[in-house]
Amino acid sequence: MTTELEIGLYIFILAGFLGYHVITRVPPLLHTPLMSATNAISGISLIGSLVVAGANYSRLSTALGFIAVTCSSTNVVGGFLITDRMLKMFKRREEVGIQHRRFNLKLLLAIPVLVVFLVVMHWIRRSGTDSQSSSAALSVVALRYFYILSAVLFILGLKGLSSPKYARKGMLLAAFGMVMAIAGTLFHPEIVNYRWITLGLAIGSVVGGSMGLRIPMTAVPQRTALSHSLGALAASLIGISEYVRHVAVELDSVKMTTIGLEVIIGSLTFTGSLMAAGKLQGLLPGAPITYRGQNVFNITLLSAVVGSLIYLVFVPATSTLFFVMVGLALLFGFLLVIPIGAADMPVVIALLNSYGGLADASMGFVLMNKIQIITGSLDGTSGFLLSLLMCRAMNRSAINVLFGAFGKVKKEAVGPAAEATGTVRSITPEELTVLFDSIRSVIIVPGYGMAVAQAQQGVSELAKLLSTRGIDVKYAIHPVAGRMPGHMNVLLAEANVPYDQLYTMEQINPYFPEADIALVVGANDVTNPAAKNNKNSPLYGMPILEVHRAKSIIVLKRSLRPGFAGVDNELYYDPKCMMLFGDAKESLNKLFAALRS
Ligand code: NAP
Repeated sequence: MTTELEIGLYIFILAGFLGYHVITRVPPLLHTPLMSATNAISGISLIGSLVVAGANYSRLSTALGFIAVTCSSTNVVGGFLITDRMLKMFKRREEVGIQHRRFNLKLLLAIPVLVVFLVVMHWIRRSGTDSQSSSAALSVVALRYFYILSAVLFILGLKGLSSPKYARKGMLLAAFGMVMAIAGTLFHPEIVNYRWITLGLAIGSVVGGSMGLRIPMTAVPQRTALSHSLGALAASLIGISEYVRHVAVELDSVKMTTIGLEVIIGSLTFTGSLMAAGKLQGLLPGAPITYRGQNVFNITLLSAVVGSLIYLVFVPATSTLFFVMVGLALLFGFLLVIPIGAADMPVVIALLNSYGGLADASMGFVLMNKIQIITGSLDGTSGFLLSLLMCRAMNRSAINVLFGAFGKVKKEAVGPAAEATGTVRSITPEELTVLFDSIRSVIIVPGYGMAVAQAQQGVSELAKLLSTRGIDVKYAIHPVAGRMPGHMNVLLAEANVPYDQLYTMEQINPYFPEADIALVVGANDVTNPAAKNNKNSPLYGMPILEVHRAKSIIVLKRSLRPGFAGVDNELYYDPKCMMLFGDAKESLNKLFAALRS
């Protein structure tokens, strides 16, 4: 066990470093697909769940394994489908209008490979009628090699995400690796009953399939949070099953530690992610819920959870304490997320993604399944890197996001220096058409409001119309515009905007002084000049899109209400700025009507 643990730790660390190198190469353009891809790949926890659901351990294990199979297969099917849906949308200028083939014929090549693989596994298992033990050992060895191959395919899949050109092919390889790992596991010698496995896989495929195929792109953040919660639930249930199975016989301190970590991280990630999904979907209030002594209470609760685990490591047979610990971890996940505002949820989701990866890796340690250690480590690294990136783009620390209740910033706390004053000028769609007659370049700045108004299609059509008039159109994408990293890119790609028109903040900022119009659609905080020049502003220090440097600025939003940070935007009082008030989609429709007439 100790050698195995040592090897597992080496694998975990090396996979983390490998993940760091592969994932840092993924461009911001593909950060949303990256999240759903790592989520799908971490659904590899399915292989551990299949064994628990199909083995003859106990009724409780079978029931917990069945739920875990259902949750993990929902993630695998849903994750790969939605990632492919997103990746299909990313097109270069010359590819726009060309429909990607629904089915790639090269995929057929995978069928003979899979058939040979299944025949080999079947043959090994059948030969077990003569020598049960040697065939079981042989099939476990064969499975190990297939898992190694699957791990390679997963890493190649993530590597493909370093460019939209290879992203889909990479993800197909990863999906093939997943099919191979799952199909191979079905021949695991400990699996004796397929009834619950079949049912779990069927339910998971239907639920995951319909989520993956139907969920609108605007709802991707909440789907991501939901799938983290399902993955974490699976890890937690398998941990509980393993505890119950081993505690009756023998449970050494190493196994108890890994099981403990698995259930703690799994449970808190489960409730935390559920809360995040609820807030993003609007089912729960988006505003932070705070109370006196909150952080002290949370830290005490976490200490109780950790203390319980330490006690259990020395006295594993204290089952009641084990279940109390699970309950406290569930409560901690819930309490950890309630003080965080809805707009900070992306950082929370990314952090929970990272925790989910750790839960998955701990499950790998519990079952001594190396592929799970690898995918858990990759998932953990990816979530951690994305949360750091977001915090940097908001000029805030992760501690501030988690414990600062930022969305609760009160106007009076901001101070008078942060209040913007002056005259606001508005413009009508008809007047705007006149402006469009005399310009040569536009930079479109989308934000959260574009997603709320579902105005991405209108934005794309307006851009096309302007292009046909010889106007140069570029899009400026702030790393935290919207409610998920890379969210704007996915929405615009869905509306057929070629990805070579999408510019990152660093790329686009030098172009603003030359732009005749900066057209801001539902973006607010990410354009606020106070972030650069007002030390009293809570946004001070946040890198922004330098919209204020454009020759003229048009802002599409419904009112002068502030964005998520709760502060006035100085931009709206700039003499160069004109407000086109109203819902972004409706304003664009009126603008079209005016342009046509
Ligand atoms: P924002 O500052 O939240 O502003 C969005 C604006 O959209 C609002 O001011 C709102 O103004 C407008 N709006 C809402 N519904 C609209 C509609 N139907 N039509 C037109 N306009 C509409 O958004 P942002 O500029 O995209 O900035 C994102 C914020 O989220 C930042 O503060 C960022 O720090 C935070 N955040 C993002 C991430 C991420 O990963 N993306 C992560 C963490 C935090 P009206 O009400 O007046 O219409």
